[in-house]
Amino acid sequence: MTLATIDVHDLIGHPGLARRTDVLGTIEGLATEVVAVPDEAPLGGSLLLESLIEGVLVTGAITGSWMVRCARCLTERTQPFSVDVSELFVPAGVVDPDDEDDQRYELADETIDLDQLVRDVVGVEMPFAPLCRPDCKGLCPICGGNRNEGECPGHETIDPRFAVLADLLPDLPDD
Ligand SMILES: [Zn+2]
Ligand SMILES: [Zn+2]
Repeated sequence: MTLATIDVHDLIGHPGLARRTDVLGTIEGLATEVVAVPDEAPLGGSLLLESLIEGVLVTGAITGSWMVRCARCLTERTQPFSVDVSELFVPAGVVDPDDEDDQRYELADETIDLDQLVRDVVGVEMPFAPLCRPDCKGLCPICGGNRNEGECPGHETIDPRFAVLADLLPDLPDD
């Protein structure tokens, strides 16, 4: 079930009028290198739609869950999120496409494109370098093991500088 559009023709031209609407649905392909909202994971929230002279103001919060991969140890886990929404929708043709500072959305046939709105507000809140915990030890540079699960037996005392040398000169005889 994708996120539906919201018909706001009843609000347009009636500044002061407002109503609340509940939204629920899924979104496809919303992901970065390290964070992803699964295609089948529902997102939703309660949004307040307020008619203003210049358009319709949408405020509220969107909640859901996303899969986060730790930037250090690459462990994945599901995490709930909640992002604030505060976006102004104006009639089509009002926004100057060349003006990058104009952050307003345009209404399409007096409806709000919820998919685009949620994609934007959730996408911008996705962390760039999430950590599973603040002191994540990351992966062992020698064997790739997860160092949060304990130091590797056998090579924990090898100076990492020698490990680099060993990698550069793999065919060097032992003697
Ligand atoms: Zn980690
Ligand atoms: Zn190791």
